Amino acid sequence: MSHSPFPISIPRQRRGSAILLLLLSVLLLLAACTQPGEVAVASSGDAPIRVVTTIGMITDVARNVGGEHVEVTGLMGAGVDPHLYKATESDVNRLLNAQIIFYNGLFLESRMEDVFAQIAESKPAIAVGEAVPVAERLASPQYAEHFDPHIWMDVKNWQMVAEKIRDELIAFDPAHEADYRSNTAAYLAQLQELEAWVQEQVKTVPEQQRLLVTAHDAFHYFAKGYDFSVYAPQGISTESEAGVEDIRRTIDIVVEQNIPAIFVESSVPPDVVEAIVEGARARGHEIRIGGSLFSDAMGEDGTPEGTYIGMIRHNVGTITSALRGE
Ligand SMILES: [Zn+2]
Repeated sequence: MSHSPFPISIPRQRRGSAILLLLLSVLLLLAACTQPGEVAVASSGDAPIRVVTTIGMITDVARNVGGEHVEVTGLMGAGVDPHLYKATESDVNRLLNAQIIFYNGLFLESRMEDVFAQIAESKPAIAVGEAVPVAERLASPQYAEHFDPHIWMDVKNWQMVAEKIRDELIAFDPAHEADYRSNTAAYLAQLQELEAWVQEQVKTVPEQQRLLVTAHDAFHYFAKGYDFSVYAPQGISTESEAGVEDIRRTIDIVVEQNIPAIFVESSVPPDVVEAIVEGARARGHEIRIGGSLFSDAMGEDGTPEGTYIGMIRHNVGTITSALRGE
């Protein structure tokens, strides 16, 4: 496991979100005043449950599990970096209007934690990442007392998340329990198939070549689940930037270990990875950018990579073919 060279403290950006939080408090109060007697437990009638989610991976699971009984609004689309994302005014309105909120937690959406904490007082706001048992979570290499939030990189974790979302929807809307169970069983079967495919693909890369170098540290669960090593000059959150020394150290590693390819990420600017490629080439090591991986955001809606399963297939296909030297 790599360790970030930047043991920095967490910028909480409290001041920036203070006004939004105040707005939220007022709106919550108004909502409470104008809807006396309405309880959070739904759903009479067959109007779909209004679900709001953060990252696309969670949006996708919630749609698969909830099926026709939910209307899911995802706040973060393709290319959006959840580490840096702040709730906009229209997000706050969506959150207020939601009946259930699913977010990753484990400090992924670090700038929305206060908003979720406040919302959780009036409706279910669930950190689905907590479905992964503590013993199986990885420590953040960067922030003491935090876990690495990038749990979706191991399909086995995402199966637990699907079950968590199923259980929360059943608790909220017991009338449709049978549907939630059958939707989830069907989706889990697809995830099981995906897991088997990933296991098969990673075996095609010789063991000594299983080193994944990316800009930021999103792939530790992938490494743990599929027997890779990872190295990232930028650390686990994109809030810290890679410095000259981090880049030089990464160049040493790719040259010494004769790594044929490193990877950019769809939600992180490519300049750090480009600098590593340039530096390694200047030392006579032939290396290329092996492709773009989806780390903290999925692809565009309507493309295969705009689904969790398609995103994982893309990443694994890209990583394994580039590291085999193809
Ligand atoms: Zn990340």
